[in-house]
Amino acid sequence: MKNIEQMERIIQYMEAGFPILYINTYEEKNTMEMLRETVVRTGRRKIIEWNLTTGYSEYLPSEGQYQVPPTQCTFSKLMGTLSPEDYTESLFIIRDVSSLLGSPEAVAYLKELSIRIGTDIESNIVLLSAVLKIPKELENFITILDMGYPSEEEIEKLIKEFCSEQGTEAEESLIHEMAVTFKGLTESEIISILCLAMSDDGKLGKNDMSLVFEQKQQKIRKSGIMEMIPLKEKMEDIGGLENLKAWLGRKATVMKDLRKAGEFGVDAPKGVLIAGLPGCGKSLTAKAAASLFQIPLLRMDMGRLMGKYVGESEENLRKALTLAEAISPCVLWVDELEKAFAGIGGNGGGAEVTTRLFGNFLTWLQEKDAPVFVVATANNVSKLPPEFLRKGRFDEIYYVGLPKDQERKQIFSIHIKKRRPGELSTVDLNRLAQATEGYCGADIESVVADAVEEAFVKGKSYVETEDFLAAIRNTNSLSDTMKESLKEMEETYKKNHFRKASL
Ligand code: ATP
Repeated sequence: MKNIEQMERIIQYMEAGFPILYINTYEEKNTMEMLRETVVRTGRRKIIEWNLTTGYSEYLPSEGQYQVPPTQCTFSKLMGTLSPEDYTESLFIIRDVSSLLGSPEAVAYLKELSIRIGTDIESNIVLLSAVLKIPKELENFITILDMGYPSEEEIEKLIKEFCSEQGTEAEESLIHEMAVTFKGLTESEIISILCLAMSDDGKLGKNDMSLVFEQKQQKIRKSGIMEMIPLKEKMEDIGGLENLKAWLGRKATVMKDLRKAGEFGVDAPKGVLIAGLPGCGKSLTAKAAASLFQIPLLRMDMGRLMGKYVGESEENLRKALTLAEAISPCVLWVDELEKAFAGIGGNGGGAEVTTRLFGNFLTWLQEKDAPVFVVATANNVSKLPPEFLRKGRFDEIYYVGLPKDQERKQIFSIHIKKRRPGELSTVDLNRLAQATEGYCGADIESVVADAVEEAFVKGKSYVETEDFLAAIRNTNSLSDTMKESLKEMEETYKKNHFRKASL
């Protein structure tokens, strides 16, 4: 299905005389096959191909044969040899593009040819590469085509075909579960993981799911801009923040049944911006939200989006968002938002790129259709451009402040229960909460960790209230270390009328 749509799109571009189509794909082999089929559909054209290893060839797809078999030849030599007539009624496919486009000579040849295509040659150039790198000189001639990722139905079909080729069968429910997990991977990546999953016992079973998940995590990490985070944290691991938890609970009801909610007239949730003091549970909430919604969690590292080449950062952002859409429904956690978009509106190349990135991200936030729930977290919102804080970008903006008395009690209880479950009932949580005014959640966690370690080192067989109080005396709270900036941040949140995460 996807192939047919893509072929039709390519034919439209070819017929409309677009000089260069830049196909951004990891699936060179499949794309080549698809291009050959596309050319057969247009009837008359031939394929001229050039790549670094086998050189130059001419192929007539309608007859399934070479007119010129693969012949070693450098790109520049080829371009110097071919006359305009040679290109007429052809599709000129160039692979190994990233090295080629580094050569000014090759770029000049391509530019020359693009101009001719616009005037007197009926031909098109296709650049095929997994890396998108566009020289300024060619920008006006290039149209980018993304091959996208297979849909859930296409993946199910792929798994079934794979099983029948391997002479095995898998349960319908397993195929479905695997298809959901494979979303966001390319066809060849899926096949290679399936081969690996089969290699131990010759069939696909429930026991292969963890391997599938691990492999997918690795592939996503390799992309360098996103990370898939395992879901360990739950809503019960968050002490306090009751308003925010209740709000997420409502969104979970919608996210879990988007179709029904949509039919009822409910908008698909867009996401939430959680601003607040460091160590107060913002990241924890992002992770717990994905568990609550029962969907995967992707973390986008905005720092790593920034590339060296012209257009590379924008391309990285586009790739990351396309991947998130392919994996959706998912939670996309954008951490330290203010760091990513600091410097907007400033002067210089870096600031310009950031401003463009920011614009692209905002447009995507506003227009996205796929169920990607964005959780953006930020410490210092005063550094964020005001457009972010406007209603409509996110469903809601919450601020997380220092935990109150009751919340500190809950946070102590959560962390003591994790390490010393048997002793929770013997500890005086009220005293601990009273002694920790101005401490953030992370401070409390470290108090608990220190007290437990100290008791162990001293050779004690239990940990008691006094041990925790001693650890509190040895810990500097967040309000000690960041007094001035805390006040400033709290004022900004109030001024902007953010909702309070705590009751
Ligand atoms: P930063 O802005 O520095 O990234 P953050 O607000 O994202 O901080 P978290 O990473 O969520 O803070 O918190 C650090 C750790 O502190 C958490 O992993 C958790 O163990 C503990 N913690 C913080 N707040 C809470 C809370 N409300 N309940 C339970 N634990 C908490």
